[in-house]
Amino acid sequence: MTFDQGNSPIGSARAHFVLVPMMAQGHTIPMTDMARLLAEHGAQVSFITTPVNASRLAGFAADVETASLAVRLVELRFPTAEFGLPDGCENIDMIQSKGLVVSFMEACAALGEPLKAHLRQHQRSPPSCIVSDMMHWWTGDIARELGIPRLTFSGCCGFSSLVRYIISHNKVLENVTDENALITIPGFPTHLELTKAKCPGSLSIPGLEKIREKMYEEELRCDGEIINSFQELETLYIESLQQVTRKKVWTVGPMCLCHRDSKTMATRGNKASMDEAQCLQWLDSMKPGSVIFVSFGSLAATTPQQLVELGLGLEASNKPFIWVIKAGGKFPEVEEWLADGFEERVKDRGMIIRGWAPQVMILWHQAIGGFVTHCGWNSTIEGICPGVPMITWPHFAEQFLNEKLVVDVLKTGLEVGVKGVTQWGNEQQEVMVTRDVVEKAVYTLMGEGEAAQELRMRAKDYAIKARRAFGEEGSSYNNVRLLIQEMGNKTNACG
Ligand code: UDP
Repeated sequence: MTFDQGNSPIGSARAHFVLVPMMAQGHTIPMTDMARLLAEHGAQVSFITTPVNASRLAGFAADVETASLAVRLVELRFPTAEFGLPDGCENIDMIQSKGLVVSFMEACAALGEPLKAHLRQHQRSPPSCIVSDMMHWWTGDIARELGIPRLTFSGCCGFSSLVRYIISHNKVLENVTDENALITIPGFPTHLELTKAKCPGSLSIPGLEKIREKMYEEELRCDGEIINSFQELETLYIESLQQVTRKKVWTVGPMCLCHRDSKTMATRGNKASMDEAQCLQWLDSMKPGSVIFVSFGSLAATTPQQLVELGLGLEASNKPFIWVIKAGGKFPEVEEWLADGFEERVKDRGMIIRGWAPQVMILWHQAIGGFVTHCGWNSTIEGICPGVPMITWPHFAEQFLNEKLVVDVLKTGLEVGVKGVTQWGNEQQEVMVTRDVVEKAVYTLMGEGEAAQELRMRAKDYAIKARRAFGEEGSSYNNVRLLIQEMGNKTNACG
């Protein structure tokens, strides 16, 4: 990839952004969109990654090359062996046991020296700023040494970022021992209460607390935050986040709107595990708004019992569906159950995708009328963009907050009614949502009742607002321009 020369915002030096994503699909994918977006607006981008992740990003690399965008993928060797990680374990979705999370984070921090060396070598095009994942606390030192700003990116929305900030910096959970204790979030602009277990930051692993502390310390020292959301979606929370953190918050989303054709949508994040053309053909054969899309993102590990129950609920709803199952390899019993009659029974109206699905491409198809989502922020905003109402099924972390935003604030979704947390790496064995509940939720969302019509109407309205914000002279569009201009004006001193 080469750096193209034109299209810099008037009056600014050509800004060079160094993007350092966390190696987890929900964090890396929006940063690939960010890279594309910044480059389309005239900036240069160095995208830091590792060999295994770079191979997943082959589609992205080819797309930016074809579009002659100034994006360079920089591969740094990931020190797996040094930190006791299995060979090739370079992404959070490859970690097989919770015990390795801390080693993974330490291996990430060890990328600091090679990254610094790389940035010092490239004097010809010194970096203007580092945009790094919240979790890469160690990039703060590098930015200070190079005398450039560090902006953080967490992959979350303003609503949940604000909750997390309040909880972490006010130590709200510190003396709460009961996981089911209801916590009222102090200083939140609207009334919000949830159990301790559903609060962000409650994943407890020995050694993780120390890393969290460093993350929070560095968050206080950073020069601003980039958020994949748009002002008009959550004005109150974004303004409040800015006030509480006393930092500039740049809303530049929804960044997935940088994909304008099904080809780049299809290669987003990884190579799809099925033929995209076949998927589109199947969708074309369905009535507009008739299909429900079911996907729980890249990390949530739904138990085999729960998957079977979900499948039976989809079957009972009688609605056409696309169901993404990533756990096929991990749970052979689910595969057996699918093969033992289920797939045959639903073959006329159900498509099962095992592995990576071209999610954005699917969500944009006119046949999609609803989305059963785990409420990862990317999935949530990807559902908002085409105006698809949702059934919310959070599993862990800030997913419960995104559910609150969708159900209580935006009112574009129905809760399926998840009571407990399915903590990553520590999944509950019982069924939390029965087939009847799934059937009823799908039936309601996809039906013609007043409640469903209202959800649909509001979802369409936010979709229009999203496109306006992202389009020329919209709030996010202007923020990207200002961000590039501001970073371009910083001293480009490297070393
Ligand atoms: N994704 C996808 N295909 C899949 C699973 C996930 O394209 O089969 C994408 C999805 O579109 C989103 C990201 O992976 O961009 C997942 O991020 P999210 O925040 O929704 O959830 P997480 O995986 O972090 O829990």
